[in-house]
Formats: sequence, structure tokens, C-alpha cells
Amino acid sequence: MVLQIDLSALKANYRALASHAPGSRAAAVVKANGYGLGSGEIAAALFEAGARDFFVALASEVAPVRQAVGAEARIFVLSGHMEGADPGDAIPLLNSPGQYFRDRAMRPDRPFGIQLDTGMNRLGMESGEWAGLKQEILAQNPVLVMSHLACADEPGHPMNANQLVAFREMTQGVTAMRSLAATGGVLLGAEYHFDLIRPGIGLYGGQPFSDAQPVVTLSLPVIQTRDVLPGETVGYGNTWTAQQPTRVATVAAGYADGIHRALSSDGDVPRLNLLAGKIRCPVLGRVSMDLITVDVSALEEIPAALDLLSPLQTVDAVAGIIGTIGYEVLTSLGNRYKREYL
Ligand SMILES: *Cc1c(COP(=O)(O)O)cnc(C)c1O
Repeated sequence: MVLQIDLSALKANYRALASHAPGSRAAAVVKANGYGLGSGEIAAALFEAGARDFFVALASEVAPVRQAVGAEARIFVLSGHMEGADPGDAIPLLNSPGQYFRDRAMRPDRPFGIQLDTGMNRLGMESGEWAGLKQEILAQNPVLVMSHLACADEPGHPMNANQLVAFREMTQGVTAMRSLAATGGVLLGAEYHFDLIRPGIGLYGGQPFSDAQPVVTLSLPVIQTRDVLPGETVGYGNTWTAQQPTRVATVAAGYADGIHRALSSDGDVPRLNLLAGKIRCPVLGRVSMDLITVDVSALEEIPAALDLLSPLQTVDAVAGIIGTIGYEVLTSLGNRYKREYL
């Protein structure tokens, strides 16, 4: 089970996103273990590509990134300063008056940023809270004032412009670095870029950055093959029945590795294919915890491994089959894969 991660594609995606916003610094979001790909290796490669600002979700995610990027880079913690979670040498984005007072009491001389809520109603100070504290906070020179867009992957959505207006109003008079755009926001255009862009998924080859180079290839080893006859069934629940002689390969990965059980065939109708080069091999029956069964009748020779993810089958293509997003497919990839960095 080899998850191959193309660091040169990752770096190319970073540079491409940065070039969309030539007047801004380009940070890199490496939360959730670098979207499942290994935050240390990912951060080190992006540092080489020029990134000096990194974002994680939790204080517990800082250490591997810090080790990879050294003392010079800045690491921001999106969840801010939570009770009992010391941000250490990272920069917490304080999301509420409670977080602000806690942080300033505990680390009065340490750098901090502020996250504002401009309508997503998920994280950040509300406009009323901010109005009351703004002058006091700005007097302490926050490093960054940021907000997050709810609908940036839909360029025509009116929420984008609403949040842009709200962010401009709330950050009037702010001389600190300002940031609004993740991947989707970068692609919305220059007025969304401010001082710092914060792409995540686009670095890893995912939508909405349609010009992204694919970064991941996931190859699953074939354990054994067998020939099944018409009328025989395959897998748990006998959900798939052979209509004709079929060669079935069993490969080593399953839902415990992030290959969602909903990718099982729908009765006899496959939903997902694995790839042997360009040849598509349908997944038959149920995805098990550690195993998948695949129709390899079309292959002249049985390869040592079949690909679930490749440039020909992206995370977004797999996500689309089960009505989710590439982000979830990537971050679900488990710990049993050997991660190989190119
Ligand atoms: C996850 C996240 C990002 C990165 O988003 P992408 O859509 O992956 O580019 C940026 N900012 C915040 C606040 C986030 O939570």
C-alpha cells in the first residue's frame, strides 16, 4: 500500500497559486497532517518553494511542522488558544473575547492574530464583540487579522461579495496583515487577496483549483486472484453475482484505510474502478475493512498493484462517486499506507 506524494507537483501548485496573487504573501495550510499527506514532509517542501507562513488547526499539530520549517517560519493555529492547549511558539488566531483574554493573560508578550466572523458563523469574533475590543486589540499589534469565506468554491455566490464587504468594514483602520482567501478565494480575484492568501486543497491537487497538478498516487497491492463462474458471488452479503466467468483480484486496502464502504458496488453495478495503467477495473461487491475485490478480467497480466488514485482518477473523481469532496477523501487516507515522497 503505497501512497506516493509528488512534492514537485505540490511545489508547482504552490507557485501557481502564489502567482495568482502576486502582491500578497502566500501561506500554506497544512492542518490535519497536511491534508493526510504528512505535514512535516509537506511543510518542508513548501518551505523550499518559498512559503514562510503555515496554518494548522490545532496546537497539537504544530510540532511536526515546526521541526520541518525551522524557527524562521510562522505557524498559525486556526482554533486559537483553547483552554489547556498552549500554542507555544505558534501564533494563535484568537476567535472570541474569551480566547483573547485567556491568551493575553497567559502570554502577554507573545504574538497573536485575530479571526473575525464575516457571516459563516463558524469561527471568529462577531462584529459586535470586535467593535467593543477593536481599539484595545489593535493597540497590541496583532500579527494577522483574518476571516474565512463560506462559499468561495461557487464564484457566482452572493455570499462572497457580502463577506468581502463585511471584512473590509470590520478591518477598517487595521494596519496588521489581513487575510480572507483560501484556495477558492484566491481564484475569486485580486480584491479577495489582501496581504496573505491561505490555500490548502489547491496545493494538494484538489478542486476548486482546476489547474492543479495531481499530487497523489495510491497503489494497492494485489494479494491473490481467482476465477469465479456465473452464479458465484463475491464478498460480504453476496451483493455481487457473476453473470459470466470473471477473474477477481483481491487487493490490500479497505474502509479502515479511508476507502469508504459506500464505494462498494450497487448490487451488480460497480461504482468505483481501480486502474491498471489506463485500464479501468471495476470494484465488485462490498468494500471490507482491509480488502477490496476487483474485476481484472480485462487484463492480460495481473499487475502487482492497482491504482485507486492517479492522474487519471483524482481525489475529486473518487469523492464525486459518494457525494463528498476531495478534502474528505484525502484526509481519510489512513495510517497504514507507506507514504513515499517524490
Ligand atoms: C482549511 C482552511 C483553509 C484552507 O482551505 P482550502 O479550501 O483547503 O484552501 C484556509 N483558511 C481556513 C480558516 C481554513 O479552515
